[in-house]
Amino acid sequence: MMKAGYHNDQWVASSKVYTIRDGYEWLRTKQPKQNWVQLAWNKWNYPKHAMVSWLILNHGLNVKAKLFQFGCCPDIRCCICDKDSESQEHLFFNCLYSKQVMMLVEEWCGFKVAVGSYASNGRNAGTRLKRQVHYFIWTACFYHIWCQRKNSRVNLILLRPEKLAAIIKEEVTRRIRSKIGKIVSCNEKSWLQKWGIMGY
Ligand SMILES: [Zn+2]
Repeated sequence: MMKAGYHNDQWVASSKVYTIRDGYEWLRTKQPKQNWVQLAWNKWNYPKHAMVSWLILNHGLNVKAKLFQFGCCPDIRCCICDKDSESQEHLFFNCLYSKQVMMLVEEWCGFKVAVGSYASNGRNAGTRLKRQVHYFIWTACFYHIWCQRKNSRVNLILLRPEKLAAIIKEEVTRRIRSKIGKIVSCNEKSWLQKWGIMGY
């Protein structure tokens, strides 16, 4: 394959002299950057949150609607509400349980965590810190809802939405406080004070 980059023993794939790095860049196929990259791989995200979010964003979770297609599941009813077909869209955006959890978290932090189906409004949050907070909350919510789905399926236990929202809030508060650093603008400080992350 590298032969295509040569003509008469001269490296012609780029104007530079051949280097291993140049050859590697030429060989690999560059994909357009996905708009969810920052959301899933935000530096503040816990690895377990990031991994579940990456699967969600790539429609890779083994929800019942998918398992049923492969004959791995006897029914497609949602593990949480036991009413509708358990697709990713249902589980995270249409299931009454998930809606209640998200509503409680959104009431607390004062902004929409999920906008549309798989988007976060973190991109328009203003500052880097605000973006990181948005992305962290998005991934925390979706990770914990997925855990409740598993808990409901395996152990037949489901936390009340209020309890799960409280766990998410506590985790978010702890994470932000550990990551926030010393340099916070007045605007960011008052933003975090509104929902109790920072003291007055
Ligand atoms: Zn449901």
